[in-house]
Amino acid sequence: MIRFENVTKRYRGTSKPALQSVDFEVQRGEFVFLVGPSGSGKSTCLRMVLREEAPSQGRVVVLGRDLRTVSNRKAPYFRRHIGAVFQDFRLLPTKTVSQNVAFALEVIGASRAFTRQSVPEVLALVGLEGKGKRLPHELSGGEQQRVAIARALVNRPQVLLADEPTGNLDPATSVGIMQLLARINATGTTVLMATHEAGFVDEMQRRVIELHEGEMTRDERHGGYGDTSSLPSLAPGPERGAAAVAALTAVLEVHRETVAGVGMSAEEDVAPAAPVAEHGPSTAAAPERAPENPALRAADPREPALHEPEPPTAAAAAQRQAPADRAEPAAGQAAEAADEGEPADDQTRPFAETPAPLLPDALGLADRLGLGDAGDDEVGPTR
Ligand code: ADP
Repeated sequence: MIRFENVTKRYRGTSKPALQSVDFEVQRGEFVFLVGPSGSGKSTCLRMVLREEAPSQGRVVVLGRDLRTVSNRKAPYFRRHIGAVFQDFRLLPTKTVSQNVAFALEVIGASRAFTRQSVPEVLALVGLEGKGKRLPHELSGGEQQRVAIARALVNRPQVLLADEPTGNLDPATSVGIMQLLARINATGTTVLMATHEAGFVDEMQRRVIELHEGEMTRDERHGGYGDTSSLPSLAPGPERGAAAVAALTAVLEVHRETVAGVGMSAEEDVAPAAPVAEHGPSTAAAPERAPENPALRAADPREPALHEPEPPTAAAAAQRQAPADRAEPAAGQAAEAADEGEPADDQTRPFAETPAPLLPDALGLADRLGLGDAGDDEVGPTR
């Protein structure tokens, strides 16, 4: 599903490579932590999977596609198969929660009907029922990250990349986000998460790929963080550690139950976004692949047209987005319509957590999320 073959990356103007002969393969359905100190190359790896950076040597294959064959024009189309969330959330500050999520569908030309149905579904999946009409600043940091996750999932990607997704969140909130990512993975979505939160990595006992100064120093199936002595202290207080461990124990319980397909709570029972219908040619079985919910794998007539029709350009989307501050965009309307069935939520709760910076530029956001314009070329490079 994701393969790095002897990948070396040298950024222009730097003497030391950011990545040096990195080799690994992630199978479908895996949850993989990418760990290492700051500057070790984690983000570079994720940017390569998104084809935002190209290797200087070696090759990266994602969803069966050698990314050297994906042109700049086609890259945004390729990225639609990959969800991405970041430490700073990257929400549109003047758009409601629903509109932020709907935006990801708008730029791929999904129908209003699909948007109307999908947005509340994915918001329910991430635990934000009834909050579709709020603006990002009316949400806690954890809730904002959930919106970002909802937006990443609404296109039903096969792969979810998470770059320090808990980096701006307090420990208890971080646990909730880890819980959510574990649940998403349990439905079959491959998750590759860069982090230096040692506590989560140790507790979750998932595959760990470790980088040090661009070199891969470890690839362990059921790893912990390993030697944390060189890390900046991210979990300083004993309470924090204890709380995180207790909560993560609960996470693992939930995850075990989910994998076993029993005892799902009402919250977990919400249908998650299913991966897109077509898959890369990888035939290797995932070593720890969670059982799939057949209902999620069934052909879904509501699925957005990832390959056709030709989606509107990101520039067009951005143009719509700009006046949308005054008059709602199409997807915004669909999102509004989607909200209609939700209970009124007047109890706007200002949050105590530190708000993350928000990215106001819709076009930049679309490009960064892999939703931008690829011109009028063919679509569906991962077919
Ligand atoms: P991490 O995510 O582990 O903190 P990064 O992938 O961001 O590491 O960075 C790895 C190395 O590459 C660092 O030395 C960093 O300074 C360098 N680097 C990252 N991005 C660029 C860039 N755009 N130009 C030059 N050097 C970069």
